[in-house]
Amino acid sequence: MRRLKALKETYAADIRERFEWRAESCGTCPTPGICCVDEHFVNVRISRLEAEVIAVAIDALEQGLSEAVYRRVEATVEKYKLEPDSDETKTYACPLFERGVGCLVHSVGKPVPCITHACYEREEYLPPDELQCEQEVIIGRLNERVYRQPAELMPIPIAVLRSRSEGGRRALSSEQEAQER
Ligand code: SF4
Ligand code: SF4
Repeated sequence: MRRLKALKETYAADIRERFEWRAESCGTCPTPGICCVDEHFVNVRISRLEAEVIAVAIDALEQGLSEAVYRRVEATVEKYKLEPDSDETKTYACPLFERGVGCLVHSVGKPVPCITHACYEREEYLPPDELQCEQEVIIGRLNERVYRQPAELMPIPIAVLRSRSEGGRRALSSEQEAQER
């Protein structure tokens, strides 16, 4: 999980430095977060390791908010009839967007497609698809090393609920405890 976070930080810094300066600023967006809650647009799928980092981040929220987010995650699965094998044609409004706050996992577990995404005036300003693909391959390998099976991608809400029920967060807690000793 530490490696995953480091990978994403490096990727995000690269995107910011090389591409994002040409994009619209989210800080002055007239419809902030519309890209996250547009049920016809969001089709982000993530791996198990990414979901576990996100579950840790949700658990670390103030209790009332954490419970509300999990309820929203469950409602999203139901509303959009998401399944573990839903592919990228299945879209949903992301339950990790909190009005007035933004993406709840912005600094700790933002999925790669979300790191890549920004609003660009011209198509040629966009980061090339290969950059995102490379990251997804690297993260897939990391998953394989951890779980000893090929990484499966699932819609965020499904992956997060799975991680929560599988108790993957305990692994991170133990890891953190070990570091603190
Ligand atoms: S990515 Fe685009 S739509 Fe989303 S908040 Fe930023 S400027 Fe607004
Ligand atoms: S994970 Fe965050 S950035 Fe990605 S769609 Fe959800 S709220 Fe938006």
